Amino acid sequence: MAKISKPVCRICRRNAEKLYLKGRRCESDKCPLDPRKQRRGVTQAKTSEYGMQMREKNKVKVYYGVLERQFRRYFAMAKKAKGVTGEVLLRLLECRLDNVVYRVHWAFSRRMARQAIVHGHVFVNGKRVNKPSYQVRIGDEISISDGSKYVEIAKQVKELGTATVPAWLEVSENELKAKVARYPLREEVGIPVDEHLIINFYSK
Ligand code: SF4
Repeated sequence: MAKISKPVCRICRRNAEKLYLKGRRCESDKCPLDPRKQRRGVTQAKTSEYGMQMREKNKVKVYYGVLERQFRRYFAMAKKAKGVTGEVLLRLLECRLDNVVYRVHWAFSRRMARQAIVHGHVFVNGKRVNKPSYQVRIGDEISISDGSKYVEIAKQVKELGTATVPAWLEVSENELKAKVARYPLREEVGIPVDEHLIINFYSK
């Protein structure tokens, strides 16, 4: 995952969208984009077509925490694969292990999910995987090591009760094992995005 050097809330502000980059703070009224804080009558400056494409691309990069080089690699893979390029691109990003750990609510943010993986707390099919970019496949079973601090964190995230686990991931009863039931559908992608803008950006 890319290290975001800019103050992350500024990235959300620039996109005028909550990108959930700061864990718990994003769900609280401390978020500067919390609807309770929104001023009426605020309008956004006009942006060129190129600017919109660039903004959409950067938004997705920041959301999933990938660098430009990695993002281009995902785009190249999506272009080569069967299916609609934009949808495949988003599917590849959703299927990153750090995203999956976040989506099953074992971490407050993708950044925290990445730490859990890098520090060896996450297993895929019983084997420790320390690569946040690992691509999960249908049938993969993901778990957190017993006694890991992330077991407690997963409980705390659940207590927040703010989001649901997407249907393509099945979570066990004790919530500490998850299975990839199928690949995510376009409408299950967590970020509001117009992927056509991204395709146009790279097609120049
Ligand atoms: Fe900051 Fe999170 Fe709100 Fe974005 S969603 S502005 S990262 S608190």
